[in-house]
Amino acid sequence: MIIDIPENSDFSIYNIPFGIFSTKLRTPRAGVAIGDHILDLVALSELGVFDFDTSVFNKNTLNDFISLGKPITNKVRSSIQLWISDENSPISNKPKLFVLQSESQMHMPINVGDYTDFYSSIEHATNVGTMFRDKENPLLPNWKHIPVGYHGRSSSIIISKQPVIRPKGQVLPPNSTQPVFKATERLDFELEMAFITGKKTELGDSVSVDNAEDHIFGLVLLNDWSARDIQKWEYIPLGPFLAKSFASSISPWIVTLEALDQFRLAGPDQNPEVLPYLKYNGKKNYNIELEVSIKPENSEDQVIAKSNFKYLYWNMVQQLTHQSVNGCNINVGDLYGSGTISGKTPDSYGSMLELSWMGTKPIKMKNGSERKFLNNGDTITLRGFSQKNGQRVGFGEVVTKILPAK
Ligand code: CA
Repeated sequence: MIIDIPENSDFSIYNIPFGIFSTKLRTPRAGVAIGDHILDLVALSELGVFDFDTSVFNKNTLNDFISLGKPITNKVRSSIQLWISDENSPISNKPKLFVLQSESQMHMPINVGDYTDFYSSIEHATNVGTMFRDKENPLLPNWKHIPVGYHGRSSSIIISKQPVIRPKGQVLPPNSTQPVFKATERLDFELEMAFITGKKTELGDSVSVDNAEDHIFGLVLLNDWSARDIQKWEYIPLGPFLAKSFASSISPWIVTLEALDQFRLAGPDQNPEVLPYLKYNGKKNYNIELEVSIKPENSEDQVIAKSNFKYLYWNMVQQLTHQSVNGCNINVGDLYGSGTISGKTPDSYGSMLELSWMGTKPIKMKNGSERKFLNNGDTITLRGFSQKNGQRVGFGEVVTKILPAK
């Protein structure tokens, strides 16, 4: 290796995720995370090692680079893997190609044009249906036939480390018919992942299950913030609105679909049988371990839930196929959230709503306090990684502090 990569780093030689970073001396630009460092792709391209227009690296988002398509983006990734491993490569003995992550600032890696959020965890949908509607029939009749989703707000998607301001809105107090306007008292996280599209389609065209992976560039962690009391009052009949649109946070490094290839596994059986356009072949789920922690102000970070991306009932291929089946166009840089990823056991639930079971089972924190929902000053961190045969591919983290309402 031409650079030291700590053991157990999320950013091993097997990963090579893409992001946008800056330092005191370097304007925002494309980079690749390697161990504790970032490889500066603008500086790298100045060595003349690439045979395409490398101005795409000197931008404040990755959209243009991603638009070049997988033959080029995959070649960049595999070339870097080779060069990092080879002491005699064109990039050895060139310390100015690398900067420390600790001395860099990360930026939104993409300009998100459209944001869809799915609802694809059967455990999460069952928990929510049990709490809010009918514990005998928690899933609505469409749930096992349609990868249910809605269009979210792309302009409020923010990067890790940017704080979230507690939202205000209409809330219906218990036993009342008259709503009040106030700051949410039920601020919640949602443990999700999201994929980013890398290949566009035209209006009227559809992506099929067989070619959907061609359109998926990579994945990030997603914390899809929610205000449960506002949501409860507003969501009928048209679904989520202001309870969701105040912020959704993503991790800064986009891990490519190719880096995750060896972590594929089969998804859950889908019964009843899905319609033919949603039938797929092969392994389309991924074994990605996920966790959520809360760090109360002036206290220590505490893991409160562990889940896994593999639990999802509907996979990414089915989600993207369904999104486009009506001829809706897909653009480069669109973001598709998985929906909250809950596992089968209460310690694997992906939201405070479920972990505290609507506030009836408070979570005990190490500093003696309790949480039903989230407090001002709490810092919420999502982490995710895959590991197999000593090879680790991780997402780093998405860290967000909650600030009081304005
Ligand atoms: Ca969500």
